[in-house]
Amino acid sequence: MTELTSLTLAEACDRLRKKDISAVELTSAHVAAVEKARALNAYVLETPEQAVAMAKASDARIAKGEAGPLEGIPLAIKDLFATKGVRTTACSHILDNFVPTYESTITSQLWRDGAVMLGKTNNDEFAMGSSNETSCFGTVQSPWRREGSNTPLVPGGSSGGSAAAVAAQLCLGATATDTGGSIRQPAAFTGTVGIKPTYGRCSRWGVVAFASSLDQAGPITKTVRDAAIMLRSMAGPDAKDTTCVDRPVPDYEAAIGKSVKGLRIGIPKEYRLDGMPAEIEKIWQQGCDWLKSGGAELVDVSLPHTKYALPAYYIVAPAEASSNLARYDGVRYGLRAPGRDITDMYEKTRAEGFGAEVRRRVMIGTYVLSAGYYDAYYLRAQQVRTLIKRDFEQCFEAGVHAMLTPATPSAAFGIGEKGGADPVEMYLNDVFTVTVNMAGLPGIAVPAGSDAQGLPLGLQLIGRPFDEETLFSLGEVIEREAGRFVAKSWW
Ligand code: GLN
Repeated sequence: MTELTSLTLAEACDRLRKKDISAVELTSAHVAAVEKARALNAYVLETPEQAVAMAKASDARIAKGEAGPLEGIPLAIKDLFATKGVRTTACSHILDNFVPTYESTITSQLWRDGAVMLGKTNNDEFAMGSSNETSCFGTVQSPWRREGSNTPLVPGGSSGGSAAAVAAQLCLGATATDTGGSIRQPAAFTGTVGIKPTYGRCSRWGVVAFASSLDQAGPITKTVRDAAIMLRSMAGPDAKDTTCVDRPVPDYEAAIGKSVKGLRIGIPKEYRLDGMPAEIEKIWQQGCDWLKSGGAELVDVSLPHTKYALPAYYIVAPAEASSNLARYDGVRYGLRAPGRDITDMYEKTRAEGFGAEVRRRVMIGTYVLSAGYYDAYYLRAQQVRTLIKRDFEQCFEAGVHAMLTPATPSAAFGIGEKGGADPVEMYLNDVFTVTVNMAGLPGIAVPAGSDAQGLPLGLQLIGRPFDEETLFSLGEVIEREAGRFVAKSWW
């Protein structure tokens, strides 16, 4: 028997429907794999009893012919999604032991469609980071290692636990969120597929807010087809989130295998950075060649405001974060540190509850929004954001259907290797991904090759608003050519 944990989500759906395997068998195999892989620290909470109970209910529905599209599929949930009755902390000490009384819209849609919850995955505290090193539960180890080396590597962030869980075959798919790259960068680092849908495609209700105008949830999966299947269940209108768009959700899976002939793919010249590793250049060129052989037409394009995206993002995101995080005051949720009076209690709770990176963001955000600095920083960053969006719009208006870029400027790095003395070193990870959030566009990261040390590298496809389907079609062409990237088990 093939290991049940090595199936793709699509294969597992097929085998469950044919009653080749049961949901309980599939879930139990994953529960056992999760227990064996605790060294990775991918999960911050395992919910095995709940998983088996959900799987039993799935088997009953399958027997009655009432299976939903994700019936019996074991998934991991980023700890940023509120799960009713199940601890949700955003991996922050300030939400210690917070147990929501409600379910996020996205997870409720996954359960509606029959999925099974294995547990909650690790992430950077409040999703702030690119390496999963800021979590109050500690770092996640990537299942990947450089050839001939035992140096522990980061899985990327902030959805590091979700990416590691998918890459290590500890679930068939995972939810993730992306404010500046947190779905695509960890996917690229772990040889998995991650899509950040168009802003407004998925409901943000019940997802712990970081920067509300940029946050968007999406799946991390083993394959492009799996991402298409999972996104269909996650997406859709929601009256509880006014930024969630009321448009029908297409059958994304139907886009897999669709010809890409005649599609015009923009290659933005500003993404060719000085000092970019030759291997990244190489897979980018390789990706261009693959799409060309598939019949797509490549065109050079310019996105002239790209160089301002990162600095503008690191004003807009902290500004919104400082406002969103004001709610953690020791009164309503989680941690409370006793104080002399209420102000002292607020201050002590926030000083104790937030980690260093979160405190840095709150301070930057408060500064750029303060009287006297607002116009110079926040307002200008918003203006830059409009220009970035316009760059993309002009290319799309000129007939470009999607763009191809590298997903990250490097392969995964070692735990503790980056950002210690200078946080900007860590922020530079987001150089290819933040533009997409600033413009509200969909972006997918697909594994496309390996570096000299055998670590996976990803390419990013950026699409027109609400045209995730084209990204799935193009992404699958790359995946078909590049093959899958599976980490060797050492844990
Ligand atoms: N790395 C970026 C940051 O730290 C993006 C994080 C995210 O997308 N959640 O802000």
